[in-house]
Amino acid sequence: MMGRTHLALGAVAGVHLAAATPRLGLPIMAAALIGAILPDVDTPYSKLGRRLWPLSRIILMTFGHRGGTHSAVFLILATAAMWFVSPPVGLAFGAGIATHLAADAVSFGHGTRFTARGAGVPLLWPLSERKAGLRLVKVNGALENLVILPWVTLYAVQLGWRLV
Ligand SMILES: [Zn+2]
Repeated sequence: MMGRTHLALGAVAGVHLAAATPRLGLPIMAAALIGAILPDVDTPYSKLGRRLWPLSRIILMTFGHRGGTHSAVFLILATAAMWFVSPPVGLAFGAGIATHLAADAVSFGHGTRFTARGAGVPLLWPLSERKAGLRLVKVNGALENLVILPWVTLYAVQLGWRLV
């Protein structure tokens, strides 16, 4: 999926978790949003990858897009690292990453910008490079931009509105 859709999905996770721990609302929201776009640090064409392009280029050349940063190992290690800082913030970070992996698992890339042309994510990396997923949503296609993105954004906003 595109970065904006990942951010909207991360916002839904963040708002739910912020409601459970309101005193840490802002760090929880921030962790969920960063987690939601973190796996795409493996391509210089993503929101995060553009800002960190020397790093993202190295990761792309080493692992390819939708490689190790889209695996269960990455999810667990990144969540654990943040958990040591603060368990509620670590949980939100992990939830953001999990929304990213779930969204990419049901979407497929197109064109040369995506070295990963097939659908899915390599959940069992590095044990297996095989991608698990379904070709349901075309990245940057009409379903993503005209249906999923507006509905998920509206849902996150109306949930967040109640917290303010
Ligand atoms: Zn991704």
